[in-house]
Amino acid sequence: MTRAAAAFAGLGVDRVLEPPGVLPQAALRLDPGLPARPGELVVDCERLQVDSVSFRQLREEGGDDQAAIGRRIMAVVRERGKLENPSTGSGGVLIGRARRASRARRIPRGTRIVSLVSLTLTPLHLERVLEVHLATHQVEVEGHAILCRAFPIAVAPDDLPLGVTLAALDVSSAPAQLARLCRRGDRVVVLGGGGASGLLCLALARERAQGGTLVAVDRDPAMLDDVRRAGLAHHCVQADATRPIDCARAVARATGIVEADVVVNVVDVPGTEMASVLLCRPRGTVMLFSMATSFSDAALSGDGLGRETRMMVGIGYVEGQAALAMRLLRRHAGLREVFTRRYGARH
Ligand code: NAP
Repeated sequence: MTRAAAAFAGLGVDRVLEPPGVLPQAALRLDPGLPARPGELVVDCERLQVDSVSFRQLREEGGDDQAAIGRRIMAVVRERGKLENPSTGSGGVLIGRARRASRARRIPRGTRIVSLVSLTLTPLHLERVLEVHLATHQVEVEGHAILCRAFPIAVAPDDLPLGVTLAALDVSSAPAQLARLCRRGDRVVVLGGGGASGLLCLALARERAQGGTLVAVDRDPAMLDDVRRAGLAHHCVQADATRPIDCARAVARATGIVEADVVVNVVDVPGTEMASVLLCRPRGTVMLFSMATSFSDAALSGDGLGRETRMMVGIGYVEGQAALAMRLLRRHAGLREVFTRRYGARH
């Protein structure tokens, strides 16, 4: 193998079956076959955290029938060698145990790890789906994944339940990205603030935007109750982010804020780009983390307002994201309590 070919092998190019010449993310089919190749880590999968947008679509298609959702997941993975929902293009992450020790990654055999790359580019083979948990979007499975040399992982901590670790690490790039955007005194609005990434972003903003104002917006009152109980926001506003005028009015009425410095969009439905821009001050920052974001809707949403906004695509990998999410969970008792209640039960 040439040196260039060896470097690309670390990215999983040699696991692409079709079309030739693309990276695993863009591939139609990956090869999850064994044995492992040099530099690869084989993980015996225990559980998948399916991306929120993808899981919503699977639920709608399967009519909330766990068995139907499980069959659909099996079919996608069998056909594509990875879990990339063909309707939403999104994946999730996995937790499992290293089948062998890895000197390069400095982990012994059996270490429980979470993949920090999306399931949309991870070679995956499933023997069976054991159980689908509707409330947490987590799926217990038997099978294996191949983590190529360049794919980042996090070692799961011993002091947190498996489900909590998985849920938090799935969206851990959100607070890590926000940490680079949020300043002392900022007014921060989080759309979808009661969800997993919303709660982590609010906890991060409590630390970074000291002296500022934190607003959680969600359409689900139960999710907002959790934010309130955890003490993570100054204001909780029940509103539908797909209705931009109503949403902005509700925020202004409840908080007095007409234009925030930073707006974080972590909802899991389409059609919320305009509300994000409307709620943000000119030259403020909108972080579009939702996988349901439309580039064209986002790009064009400022035109009619005559407003220049700094828009950030939510990125899936940020250095130090796993350690930051774990630190937030340990430091904020309220956040940990909500995560443990939602994701920490055995099921
Ligand atoms: P989640 O836990 O399901 O939270 C989403 C929250 O948004 C829920 O509380 C939901 O309420 C609320 N919501 C839905 N529609 C709304 C609306 N119209 N107005 C106001 N609130 C609304 O999701 P998550 O796991 O935190 O994920 C959030 C987003 O991050 C998803 O879009 C996911 O795809 C994305 N994500 C992106 C990346 C990346 O790399 N960019 C990585 C991972 C995840 P209900 O309970 O009523 O649904």
